[in-house]
Amino acid sequence: MLPVVVVHGGAGQIPKDRAELSMSGVCSAVRAGYGVLLGGGSSMDAVVEAVSLMENNPAFNAGCGSVLNMKGEVEMDALVMDGRTLASGAVSAVRNVANPIQLARLVMDKTSHACLTAEGASQFARSVGIPEVSQESLITEYARMRWRKNLAPDANPVECQMGKMGTVGAVAVDGEGNVACATSTGGMLNKMEGRVGDTPCIGCGGYADNKVGAVSTTGQGEAIMKVTLARLILFHMEQGQSAEAASDLGLAYMQSRVSGLGGVVTVDPAGRWAARFSSQQMVWAAAQGDALHWGLWTGEHFTQNIGETS
Ligand code: ASP
Repeated sequence: MLPVVVVHGGAGQIPKDRAELSMSGVCSAVRAGYGVLLGGGSSMDAVVEAVSLMENNPAFNAGCGSVLNMKGEVEMDALVMDGRTLASGAVSAVRNVANPIQLARLVMDKTSHACLTAEGASQFARSVGIPEVSQESLITEYARMRWRKNLAPDANPVECQMGKMGTVGAVAVDGEGNVACATSTGGMLNKMEGRVGDTPCIGCGGYADNKVGAVSTTGQGEAIMKVTLARLILFHMEQGQSAEAASDLGLAYMQSRVSGLGGVVTVDPAGRWAARFSSQQMVWAAAQGDALHWGLWTGEHFTQNIGETS
């Protein structure tokens, strides 16, 4: 069994001028998560580290850089799940934390609940000493520009939905064979206030079970929820499919059954991994052994020694 970390930076159509930033962002995040594993950290520590880095990176639709809702505000969702115990923690519609993924982990570690939302989640954040940040600090010029553009009466609704993707997620297997997943998002561009997507829902935005594997998803949240995409993929793995085949089966079902597009990163407990998507693109990276892998388009797969600087 070979420890591994696999991350994604969102499925969809990544604008040309953002592609480089997104690729270097996922590569740095996967290196950081893998560094945690090499330092003896657990798969849960690794996925939270990798996702925190991407939340802090304005290139992605999570944390700073999140898309804006109809009112021009940030509302974020996040989920973690631990394959050892099936414990999970999530937050939804949170507005004033820099790293929703860390808050989700604290929900898992410090409460008896699986999900806290909106103001209740903020109160919990204060009670555990997570500093409040301003909305302004989470909103980038780019997010504001896209919000304005998509409010325009002639905005193309399909473009609005495809252009916005950039949710982040990670899965990992550690030296003990424990799997974990983490997913974090600003959701859908110009969503209604209070809209909660697939990301914080277990079985949808992610799932982790040491007996089968772990998945983190991205894509059209309402479609992902209809087919409980993460759990569906693990179901196919339970039936004997590989991580790659199961990911393709889950994505194909979502596309044929509810016309939904998306992407996933998947691992099994032996460290076999997959990064698959039905959208035009998904930026992803994986670290295992001496190798760093990454890609953006279907069939694209770059590899280099992890020690090399890119
Ligand atoms: N799944 C996310 C949501 O619907 C969006 C995405 O992955 O890009 O909130």
